Amino acid sequence: MQLLISSAMLVELQQLALDAAPAETCGILFGEDGKVSGYRAAQNVADDPSRHFEIDPAILIETERDSRNGGKPILGYYHSHPVGPVRPSITDAESAAPDHRIWLILNGRDAAAWRAVEDGEIYSRFDAIVLDCFGANGQTVEE
Ligand SMILES: [Zn+2]
Repeated sequence: MQLLISSAMLVELQQLALDAAPAETCGILFGEDGKVSGYRAAQNVADDPSRHFEIDPAILIETERDSRNGGKPILGYYHSHPVGPVRPSITDAESAAPDHRIWLILNGRDAAAWRAVEDGEIYSRFDAIVLDCFGANGQTVEE
């Protein structure tokens, strides 16, 4: 299992993370078979957006409905940890359903991908997966 994302898209998401700081940025990832095809930025409606994130439920509901009705498949979610490591927090684990979706966590510089599962290695909810980038010409690029 790995998450494949274009380096250009990852740069965009890192910029969103930097722009949102000190708040956490968040949104939905589209794609299939572990490959990100696009994303939808969402408002972070958490009570304290500098410490937590909550994707605007209206966006979440609308996107889930579109996806079920033949729209873009939802691969997972992204959010940022402006001051912390790109590792799921215990709050992330508590709010994650074990639905096998991908969680991409960024901090403006680093990024890591996780999968929400039933008996994960991190807080019993997430497994680490490989994050791989490809360049404009489709080649895998080094970090
Ligand atoms: Zn988090």
